[in-house]
Amino acid sequence: MRQSTLFTKTRREDPAYEESVNARLLIRAGFVHKEMAGVYTLLPLGLRVFNKIIGIIREEMNAIGGQEMLMTTLQDPELWKKSNRWVEEGEKNPNGLPWFKTKLVNGNELGIANTHEETLTNILCQHVSSYRDLPLYAYQFQNKFRNELRAKSGIMRAREFVMKDLYSFSKTEEQFREFYEECAKAYLRVFDRLGLGNRTYRTFASGGAFSKFSDEFQTLSEAGEDTIYILKEKNLAINKEVFTDEVLSDMKVRREDFEEHKSIEVGNIFPLGTKYSQALGLLYRTEDGEDKPVIMGSYGIGVGRAMGTIVEALHDEKGIVWPSSVAPFAVHLVALQGGEEEAEKLYKRLKEQGTEVLYDDRIDVAPGAKFADSDLLGIPARVVVSTKTVADKQAEVKKRTSETLERVSLENMPKFFF
Ligand code: ATP
Ligand code: MG
Repeated sequence: MRQSTLFTKTRREDPAYEESVNARLLIRAGFVHKEMAGVYTLLPLGLRVFNKIIGIIREEMNAIGGQEMLMTTLQDPELWKKSNRWVEEGEKNPNGLPWFKTKLVNGNELGIANTHEETLTNILCQHVSSYRDLPLYAYQFQNKFRNELRAKSGIMRAREFVMKDLYSFSKTEEQFREFYEECAKAYLRVFDRLGLGNRTYRTFASGGAFSKFSDEFQTLSEAGEDTIYILKEKNLAINKEVFTDEVLSDMKVRREDFEEHKSIEVGNIFPLGTKYSQALGLLYRTEDGEDKPVIMGSYGIGVGRAMGTIVEALHDEKGIVWPSSVAPFAVHLVALQGGEEEAEKLYKRLKEQGTEVLYDDRIDVAPGAKFADSDLLGIPARVVVSTKTVADKQAEVKKRTSETLERVSLENMPKFFF
């Protein structure tokens, strides 16, 4: 893509009233636009990153048998009353998430989705009746709306955000556990591929409906809202809420061996037992002709939360540093005065071989400003073509993560990125 045609502009200054590093950098670089507190638009560059994150999650969910679908935002209150989660609008309530609600013209209330356990359980009442129909795993990428009290962590805590939510439906506790562990492994692969592997921990957390624990996937970061305790040599992490003497003695570990860290919850997996299948009447008939409630689990990853976490974890003082797996482009080709003609040729050759290139072909921008923009945007490789490099039939390559400049011949450049 030609940067001269990109409608978003970078900014030198931090946006006012934005506390979080992720939102400050993403706004300055033109990846997102802030509509209001906790509500962000994805601009073209931001959407490219977002879609790559979705692509990685989708591959890993398909690999463990997930079937993708898309549920609705408008929700029927009657379903949520059955599980006792139709709580007052905006209320922080142990029985339910903070709703946004709306009304039909006739005055009837509707919910604006904040999660989908009830919705999917109800749908499956029409598709599941026998043990032969189980297990099944369904997931979606869908907009969730939550009337969050605080929205100070940029795109990591939004009031409108896209979540990957997968739900598992199993016959037995063993069948459920087997998938739960498969999904935990898939999550670790996702965070690895997102460049967060070396700082993301599967973490014991509270809140499993039918077992003692749920699991959170926590990425170490000073920007995190959570606190976890880590025992490095055992690769063991425990959320602050469950870091009690009782749990520690159950696990046969000592409090003083743990390190305390701030962290970001990038995902979680949750045993649900038969809470929703019982409330909504999702039963299956066993081989022995007995009717039993289906055993469920839910598995979430916030796509924006993951994107914000990558920015928080990997940026430097000059800007964003995208891992190549989610970078909006693989190469930032920068033409300086005298290099335009060769840069133009190189752009065409790189595109022809399928390399994703952002081509800074702007003619009225000083070299220093082009370099500053390049660092801010965080594309993994920068290629500069100038009078000086062209004289040697070369271009200058610099990785975003390194200070080293490398000269590569114009002729060999496409191979370099192939
Ligand atoms: P938190 O404790 O951070 O509020 P949660 O326990 O409410 O998260 P879930 O409802 O299980 O989380 O959502 C699953 C995933 O969705 C989370 O692990 C997180 O990645 C993401 N998520 C949750 N709330 C938000 C939000 N307000 N903005 C962006 N992503 C979110
Ligand atoms: Mg929450």
